Amino acid sequence: MSELYLDPILGWRVWKVQRGRLYSTVFGTLWPERTRLEARCGIGGRSSPGGLRGVHDAPARDCDCGIYALKSREDAMFLARQIMRPDIAAVGRVSLWGHVVETERGYRAQFAYIYDVTLVDATDEQAEEIRNRYAVDAFAEPSRDRCDSILPAA
Ligand SMILES: [Zn+2]
Repeated sequence: MSELYLDPILGWRVWKVQRGRLYSTVFGTLWPERTRLEARCGIGGRSSPGGLRGVHDAPARDCDCGIYALKSREDAMFLARQIMRPDIAAVGRVSLWGHVVETERGYRAQFAYIYDVTLVDATDEQAEEIRNRYAVDAFAEPSRDRCDSILPAA
C-alpha cells in the first residue's frame, strides 16, 4: 500500500500553458483552478497490466496511477525543455498529500494543489494570467535555451 501523508510534501511538476491554463504534459489533463486535483485510476488512459483499471483508490503501488511529481527541479526543467513552441512550458511546485507512493525520482499522489509556477520563456502578462486564474504565485522566467537542445544545429 501507499504511505498516508497528512502534511503535504512538495514535488516538482511541468505543465504546458495554453490559453492561460495549465495542462499536464502527458495526458493533457486540465488542472483545476483554486481547488485540489484528485487522482483517479484510469483517468487519462492510465491502466495497469493486471487489469486493475479503475477498481482501486489511486495511487496503488502496483499500478501507475496517481498525480505525478518529481523530486528535483533539474528533472522538471529537463522535461520542460521538451515542450515545443508555441506551447509555453511551466515548471512549479505542487503540494502532495493523502496516499502517496514514493519512487526513485518522484512521487505519485492522491491529492495535489499548485504551490507556485514559473513560466519559462514567457511574459509577465502571461504569468499574471496564471496568477489570477489559479490564485497562486506565478512568475515569468526569460530563457532562450528551451527546445534548442533538440533542434538541429544551424
Ligand atoms: Zn491504478
